[in-house]
Amino acid sequence: MLLEVEGLCVNYGHIEAIRDISFGVPEGTVTTLIGANGAGKTTTLKTVSGLRKVRAGTVRFDGKDITSLAPYERVKLGINQSPEGRRCFVGMTVRENLDMGAFVRKDRKTQAYRDDLDRVLTLFPRLQERINQPAGTLSGGEQQMVAMGRALMSRPRLLLLDEPSMGLAPKLIQQIFSIVTEINEQGTTVLLVEQNAAQALKRSDEAHILETGAIVRSGTGAELAGDEAVKAAYLGGD
Ligand code: ATP
Repeated sequence: MLLEVEGLCVNYGHIEAIRDISFGVPEGTVTTLIGANGAGKTTTLKTVSGLRKVRAGTVRFDGKDITSLAPYERVKLGINQSPEGRRCFVGMTVRENLDMGAFVRKDRKTQAYRDDLDRVLTLFPRLQERINQPAGTLSGGEQQMVAMGRALMSRPRLLLLDEPSMGLAPKLIQQIFSIVTEINEQGTTVLLVEQNAAQALKRSDEAHILETGAIVRSGTGAELAGDEAVKAAYLGGD
């Protein structure tokens, strides 16, 4: 397992956002968390990236207990989160945003760095065309690409994606999911949070369903996509 989460409990004040969650993310997979609004998906991701503290439980990455590490220390180990809501530095150009993603790297003048920039721009040709444009002038979908590209520039071993399809037009949703698959095929393990359950399950090796802060079902993406109860609750009955 690249990531192992065990007995995780996280509170906001007296609200129990997640209760005793345990799951693993095997190296090389796309593993997905699905669930309704408020189920605890974002909180789980934030706990993995270190933005939220645990009340109980452990987070292990590559066998190492990282529960008490600061977010930047986790980035150095290879965990990077692309946040919900396409957060970019709006006053900076696309290129500057991508450079920000590489802040933990010491090799910014090297060929390896340029190769990674090329890789990101090949994944997102739109960004190549807009490389010197302020990110704030891009469309919502393009800003999502900047946020994902920025996360990739740190060369993560584990990429945490929080609802990359949120608010995008259907055609763009397809495109974003294809890019997630491509990123995974190039060797990055992905932990994905999605409301768009049908699309996400299709592309997931493993998936877990969260309800009010707890995991209620786990299985392969195909198993869950074919399950009648899951279909009725999360896939609009189709
Ligand atoms: P969504 O899909 O709507 O983003 P989610 O599954 O990601 O939902 P979380 O955002 O993790 O859910 O929220 C889990 C629970 O914790 C919810 O009940 C939510 O209201 C609560 N919560 C989240 N953030 C805070 C906060 N900053 N302060 C207080 N409660 C919070």
